[in-house]
Amino acid sequence: MKFARLAIAACLLALGSLPASAAGVDKLYVLYCGEGVGADQSRWSPGVNVGVPLAVSDNCYLIHHTQGGWFLWDTGFPDALAATPDGVSAAGGALHVKRTKTLTAQLDEIGVKPSDIKAMAISHTHPDHIGNVELFPQAMLYVQKAEYEWPGENGAPRFKSEHPVTKLEGDHDVFGDGSVVIISTPGHTPGHQSLLVRLPKTGAVLLSGDAVHFKDNWDNRRVPALNFNKEQTLASMQRMADILAKEHAQLWINHDKPQSEAQKKAPDYYE
Ligand SMILES: [Zn+2]
Repeated sequence: MKFARLAIAACLLALGSLPASAAGVDKLYVLYCGEGVGADQSRWSPGVNVGVPLAVSDNCYLIHHTQGGWFLWDTGFPDALAATPDGVSAAGGALHVKRTKTLTAQLDEIGVKPSDIKAMAISHTHPDHIGNVELFPQAMLYVQKAEYEWPGENGAPRFKSEHPVTKLEGDHDVFGDGSVVIISTPGHTPGHQSLLVRLPKTGAVLLSGDAVHFKDNWDNRRVPALNFNKEQTLASMQRMADILAKEHAQLWINHDKPQSEAQKKAPDYYE
């Protein structure tokens, strides 16, 4: 009887420990996906720091889920940009952008083939975020319906119609266990989204996308003049602030260069 009870207890322990150790996210890599210099910071902060240049980072984030496999958040500037090491002028001369290392090379360094990536999401459809979507033609793309259907230049579609897609209308729990949750944060673009990642050691991290571009704008709730909708942007920032408080989460701002430079980069990772 005693042995039977012990055996049952051991069995329960084994079962009980399995989901806890085998579920969820175990790795988050910050990948270099380009960089840029804006000639005038006030492009993003109306009336503030007029004529002062601003250097920006451009990151992608690769997440490993113990059951769901590899998930990519944002894809950065196209890898082809790396063929021009000095970079190119963009946004009508308002920006100078470059990419000194490809996304493919960084994936290769950590032993991940593009075909290993089963799912991906982009914060929005600006060129510094969607440049490599078609490196992963097999990956399920999670995007807000409002962003997917937002007409591009001359009414062109923003994605290839054959790319597998899940069109969202609001938040989405990617793996169904709360470890990776897409958070709808419209305003910068019609269907902009951010990503909440709950890491076992680092804790919760909210990946901003371009809901905010750098810390000073976050601290002062400044909205770039080029944003699609100012009121939506402010409401999204408030929603993010509420999530940060509730989750005791860190806000990782994609384009904030000082913050990005202080972060571990692939092949190193956060757990
Ligand atoms: Zn951007």
